[in-house]
Formats: sequence, structure tokens, C-alpha cells
Amino acid sequence: MTHDPNCIFCKIVQGAIPSRKVYEDDEILAFHDIAPWAPVHFLMVPKQHVPSLAHVSEAHAPLLGRMLALAPRLALEQGCQPYPEGGHRVVINTGVQGGQEVHHLHVHVMGGPRPWAKG
Ligand code: AMP
Repeated sequence: MTHDPNCIFCKIVQGAIPSRKVYEDDEILAFHDIAPWAPVHFLMVPKQHVPSLAHVSEAHAPLLGRMLALAPRLALEQGCQPYPEGGHRVVINTGVQGGQEVHHLHVHVMGGPRPWAKG
């Protein structure tokens, strides 16, 4: 498993920085965002260091597929209401102009009653 010693999300994956865990398996960690935009706001990250969606290749497709397939289930577990009245937003900021601040691929999952703090 590849980690970047300077990456904050790698440190969270390794337990060197604490997080409020939502889900974990061999490949994926999900934890609550430290500055939530919405009543439910958690991040899903691959445990291996992938800097962004721009770095993804065909080899990552199963991992990304698993992350996306997991998002609705975790959203419900975290208190999002069911589709279609409820639902959730899935966002992957990519690159500086894409709004990415932490350069370890992460999927934002946001939901819950509106209004939200942002978005
Ligand atoms: P992005 O702008 O897409 O790169 O999003 C980075 C997200 O990581 C922001 O929503 C931050 O609030 C969140 N974040 C940064 N540091 C931490 C941390 N230590 N624990 C949880 N979330 C974090």
C-alpha cells in the first residue's frame, strides 16, 4: 500500500491523525469531514495514496466503483433520508481550479435537511 508521508489523509488512514470513522475495509476509509457543509458530510478515501481523480487509470476502476456503490448505503446509515425526497450529493473536487485542497483522492458525500451551510 502506497502512502505519502506529507499527506494528511494518508496520516488519517494510518491512524497518525484522528478521525471520526464512518466505514473501513481493506481498500477504503470513510470519515466525517472536519468542517461539514451539510448535516451529513463525510469523505470516502482510498487507503492507498492516489493524488486526485486525474491520476486514476483503468486499474482503479473497481476501487472507484466500490466507493461509488458504497456511498448511498453509508449516506443512509449516517442519517440521509431515502431517495427521492432525501438523497445526497457526491462531489470529487479535482485540481486547484476544481476546488481540491487536499491532494489525496476523496469523495464528498453530503446530505440531510436543507438549508446547508454551503452548496
Ligand atoms: P477538498 O476541498 O475537496 O480537497 O476537500 C477537503 C476536505 O477535507 C474539506 O472539506 C476539509 O474540511 C476536509 N478536511 C481537512 N482536514 C481534515 C481532517 N483532519 N479531518 C476531516 N476532514 C478534513
